[in-house]
Amino acid sequence: MITDRYSLRENNEQHVLATLIENTSISRAQISKLTGLNKATVSDIANKLIEKQFIHEIGSGESTTSGGRKPILLQLNKQAGLTLNIDLGYDYVSYLVTYLNGEVVKKETRSIQVDKVNCIDLIQTIYREQCKEASEVPYGIISLSVAIHGIVSDNRIVFTPYYDLDEIDLYNALSQKIEIPIYIENEANLSALAEKTFSTTVANLVSISVHSGVGAGIIVNNELYHGRDGRSGEIGHTILYPHGKNCPCGNQGCLEQYSSQKAILSSFQELKKNDQLTLEDLITSYTSDDDIATQLIKDFATYLSIGINNVIASYGPEKVYVHSTLVNEIPELLSFITQNIVSSFSSSIPVEISLLAENAILLGGAALNIQQFFHLSSLYLGTSPTAAESN
Ligand SMILES: [Zn+2]
Repeated sequence: MITDRYSLRENNEQHVLATLIENTSISRAQISKLTGLNKATVSDIANKLIEKQFIHEIGSGESTTSGGRKPILLQLNKQAGLTLNIDLGYDYVSYLVTYLNGEVVKKETRSIQVDKVNCIDLIQTIYREQCKEASEVPYGIISLSVAIHGIVSDNRIVFTPYYDLDEIDLYNALSQKIEIPIYIENEANLSALAEKTFSTTVANLVSISVHSGVGAGIIVNNELYHGRDGRSGEIGHTILYPHGKNCPCGNQGCLEQYSSQKAILSSFQELKKNDQLTLEDLITSYTSDDDIATQLIKDFATYLSIGINNVIASYGPEKVYVHSTLVNEIPELLSFITQNIVSSFSSSIPVEISLLAENAILLGGAALNIQQFFHLSSLYLGTSPTAAESN
């Protein structure tokens, strides 16, 4: 296993590597054309990258029209390292291992109540197991990402409303036990990074996650926008109704008190006078034309469209992605939502269901790990045999 970390200090090297990564296979001459660097420089850099096992030669491309010899193509050596990505939900732990192009190697999910006492052991156990399996890989596991369902700022967990992880210094606790770089990040931010890396080349996007709460990951000019202390994207706490329902954040009438999946489910349970009903029951009732379920789903779409309208008016994204079990299960919900987005600011902006689905958070972690490993400020891997296809 190669243990010394390669640092790409020179911009030219980053430029060549980024071009190589964005193109499935490419010749030295094509890199030279795309980067504007001369052929000798590109060759030098390519040789260094081959030596480091970051890229490899994969045979010949098409010969030139003038009948010149076929150029040798270069490709990212996806198997030079692995990324390990953990999603700490309130009642589950998932992990995903990928190659350096984001291709999924392995994914597992386990149901468990996660808390400040068990989370470190959970992560360490997954890490040790995966290290054993990666012993033959040149760079092994390059780094670890941990997704948190709460506010995170510079690897520090600031606020977690649904579990107690904000009471510990997870980053330092893990750093004492795990010897590779660790990145702790908010789940909605990671979903946005996943879209940026695997779904689209647009430079500005918002990815909205609707689960227990409503959060947004915001990409501005190709990079995640965190705001002060990681507090950007808390759109669930924008106010929908003045003097409305109380919210744990201290406001009244917050969007997520009306349009989170948790909120719609509790309204359903209340109206049906049965607190055992699940989200699946709500979906089943909706598909069998139950009046209460139909009205609730329509209200949910209306509220969510107001939130989306406000986000578009605030950030001017080129695209909006929606991550929500309800929207995935009831695809016509998307048209209910878009019908309500009518303003001249927002109506032309595409709102799409995320194709990365339940892998989005973990793939965002993979994107972060790969970006950091290669020292790239942004990354597009959509042309690779992507993770989206592995769902
Ligand atoms: Zn609130």
